[in-house]
Amino acid sequence: MKRYALIGRNIQYSYSPLVHQEIALSAGIHIEYSIMSIEPMAFIGAVDRLRSGYDGFNITKPYKTDILPYLSKNYSVTGAVNTVCVSSGDLIGYNTDGTGFLKSLEYHNIDISGEILILGAGGAARTLAYELDKLSKVYIYNRTITKAQAIIDELGLKNTHDADLNNLQPTVIINATTLGLNNEMSLPNGVKTERLQTVYDTIYNPACTPIMSWAKENGIKAVNGLAMLFFQALDAQKIWNGVELSKAQIIQTLKNIEAKI
Ligand code: NAP
Repeated sequence: MKRYALIGRNIQYSYSPLVHQEIALSAGIHIEYSIMSIEPMAFIGAVDRLRSGYDGFNITKPYKTDILPYLSKNYSVTGAVNTVCVSSGDLIGYNTDGTGFLKSLEYHNIDISGEILILGAGGAARTLAYELDKLSKVYIYNRTITKAQAIIDELGLKNTHDADLNNLQPTVIINATTLGLNNEMSLPNGVKTERLQTVYDTIYNPACTPIMSWAKENGIKAVNGLAMLFFQALDAQKIWNGVELSKAQIIQTLKNIEAKI
């Protein structure tokens, strides 16, 4: 049986094992998928164990860039890797966060033709901005302002700007901060919501965050990050095992996952 894992820090809450097992079940393959929640000092040892005993692994916070020196080849264009294929002891890096996010937009039928406001400037925000910059007018609002500009500069984004909340009429707000994981409100003061159609929280646990509750109460579409997690996992399984699911299988697999959460 092929072995996979998710490596990160303080990630016991992750639904990745469930999501990968359900995808594997739908695809008719047998895999083992475990969580390796480790402190930074244990990172090098964990990479050695993954290299010798696993067929591939996913990487999450805070190690998405720490893996770069260990890769023989890297197909990620954002400077962060979330998926590694182990091939004869070589580690090959990919990033499926961006493609997973775009597929989740399509799955939820989210219109991105207006102004998109991304809250946060961490790893997730960086990936979302990179993908959305090709398709929309994007604005990043972050507590630490310099980090928003750093994303724009480092990725050479053309349609993305530091957000001035007073002069912005977003149609979609995406929460890519960690605010909401502990039921904090992530909607910043002063944001204009007259044209707002969709609130997308990248958080999936809890399934309904305060910003999502606020959106629902105000008749605004609200989605969480489960589909994003699902599609990046599906793309990882495509890289590892050539998995492709039909639209009907995707809908059913997501239903199965939701039922088990
Ligand atoms: P990260 O790199 O640690 O970035 C955290 C972000 O949250 C930063 O912009 C930080 O602002 C902001 N923040 C933290 N505490 C704050 C506070 N008290 N007030 C205002 N802003 C605050 O984390 P990440 O990896 O990007 O993850 C961000 C979120 O995305 C997490 O909630 C994670 O669950 C979610 N995510 C979901 C998926 C999925 O598949 N659904 C995948 C990846 C991530 P500063 O820069 O000012 O510190």
